[in-house]
Amino acid sequence: AIVLAIETSCDETAAAIVNNCHVCSSVVSSQISLHRQYGGVVPEMASREHVAIVNAAISQAMQSAHLNWSEIDGIAVTSAPGLVGALLVGLSAAKTLAVLHHKPFLGVHHLEGHIYASYLTDPTLQPPFLCLLVSGGHTSLIFVKNCGDYETLGQTRDDAAGEAFDKVARLLDLGYPGGPAIDLLAAQGNPQRFPLPEGQISLPGGVYHPYDTSFSGLKTAVLRLVQKLEQTGQVPLPVADLAASFQAAVVRALTRRAIACALDYGLGTIVVGGGVAANRGLRQQLQQAAALHNLHVLFPPMQFCTDNAAMIACAAADHLNRGHCSPLTLGVQSRLAIADVMQLYQPD
Ligand code: ATP
Ligand code: MG
Ligand code: FE
Repeated sequence: AIVLAIETSCDETAAAIVNNCHVCSSVVSSQISLHRQYGGVVPEMASREHVAIVNAAISQAMQSAHLNWSEIDGIAVTSAPGLVGALLVGLSAAKTLAVLHHKPFLGVHHLEGHIYASYLTDPTLQPPFLCLLVSGGHTSLIFVKNCGDYETLGQTRDDAAGEAFDKVARLLDLGYPGGPAIDLLAAQGNPQRFPLPEGQISLPGGVYHPYDTSFSGLKTAVLRLVQKLEQTGQVPLPVADLAASFQAAVVRALTRRAIACALDYGLGTIVVGGGVAANRGLRQQLQQAAALHNLHVLFPPMQFCTDNAAMIACAAADHLNRGHCSPLTLGVQSRLAIADVMQLYQPD
């Protein structure tokens, strides 16, 4: 199916058209420069900016795909989870277009979109597989059984992986967002210089949770380390070594859990999704570890790791091909478990 999708769940205003797993056009307008001065996303400002540019993003997506409305089979939008005011902008635009052009309308779960980003790398990908979802707001291991059928096997107990990158970058004065900055610096640093905790979740009986993660302790450990270095006069800070050591701890935590989970559940493929899937350390280490266990790893194309509408359109196309569509009364939800995505396709 040929699907137009709109994504406005956070601070990217995006529109894209796909023909199943083939991207016909993809427009992403990031609001990073708007929010940078505040060190994070200001929800009210994000909504207003989406209103200002969503129409232009949609027109541009239509134009560069060289398609007209009669060729579009469905209109999709991220409807959950995300910032409510931001989601509403995309939802209103998508419903309007669906009514105007008499097209099926589909609400899409943002995380299902991140999972589908890897179909843009390999359209022959087929469930079942394990998804390591590592984004700004989520860190989960998801058993992907089929389109719309998901089970969360592990998750973070506190900070998400991307959030940890952002917080540590702020602590090291590397700016916002922090993931790309740490990634770059880490490549020049010594990951073994500072041993940092991987963040284990203790269970009764002296064992650790095999799949859950915790990154807040790691963030605190970096903070203490920075304070100690500053107190002992080690300025300027060895930021490259700090970045490399921090990144290595996150990558170790994610790699260990993803591999253990895939082996335990007998899943031969690990699909990575979310902004942190762009991290070069993670790409390299996970690839290496997986090869040792004869597991296959798949990453989204670089530009589709962080938020975009092509991944949303790709997920929607799969649902549409199966006859799923959403009622025009569908609302937005700030939270929605990935196990509950089929709620979006229930008639009212
Ligand atoms: P969610 O998808 O959970 O709602 P989000 O949409 O805000 O959150 P994404 O767009 O998937 O998150 O990813 C953004 C996050 O990815 C940020 O935290 C950013 O720092 C991180 N990130 C981006 N590039 C890299 C990189 N190369 N290395 C590490 N982290 C990165
Ligand atoms: Mg963003
Ligand atoms: Fe996202």
